[in-house]
Amino acid sequence: MRKVLVLEDEENIRSFVVINLKRAGYQTVEAGTGEEALAAVKDNPDIKVALLDIMLPGMDGFEVCRRLRAMDNKIGIIMLTARTQEMDKVTGLMTGADDYVTKPFSPAELTARVDALFRRTGGDEAPVSPDEISDPPFLLNTRNRTLEKNGQRVKLTQVEYSIVKLFMENPGKALSREEILDTVWGKDYFGELKIVDVNIRRLRIKIEDNAQKPTFVNTVWGYGYKWGS
Ligand code: CA
Repeated sequence: MRKVLVLEDEENIRSFVVINLKRAGYQTVEAGTGEEALAAVKDNPDIKVALLDIMLPGMDGFEVCRRLRAMDNKIGIIMLTARTQEMDKVTGLMTGADDYVTKPFSPAELTARVDALFRRTGGDEAPVSPDEISDPPFLLNTRNRTLEKNGQRVKLTQVEYSIVKLFMENPGKALSREEILDTVWGKDYFGELKIVDVNIRRLRIKIEDNAQKPTFVNTVWGYGYKWGS
């Protein structure tokens, strides 16, 4: 398994990074502070690449980078910087970083950098296709075709499972009802779009805390649905 440490104190950015790395086939270890990151690397000697945010409460990303380098010279380090000043780049490289990504970054840019660093650090075992998509409180297992919410199995039909998978593979993206129908039922299916709505309604009853006020499967009026906000 190709393991990546993600050090980022802002939870929404961290989960964005983690979701995208998982989708690209990486295993992730998360840390919210520099101290947690250093402990995680000690506990997980198979971490090959670390993504380090710079602005953190307490020890900053540069210091973490410096200490990681003192522990292990082989780990690949990418700094996540919100600032674009040359100073950060110089400081980052001086402390031993291999690369950086400037926020805001796209998932494609991030995974391309991580892939490249894995190749350079010799951590390039065969890419593992992800068999889990984690988006707390949900965990989708694509091998067993199962969904858990807060660790509890949610009983889904195959169609409902396919809808959830499509959503979780496209977090935050508005999906048209036609697109959902084509993907889940297949392009040859000559049914009514209403079948999408019926299944979504049932799905909401199973996965939402309150199906009347959905927060996971949201309606995009006049268009379709999207996962999350
Ligand atoms: Ca930060």
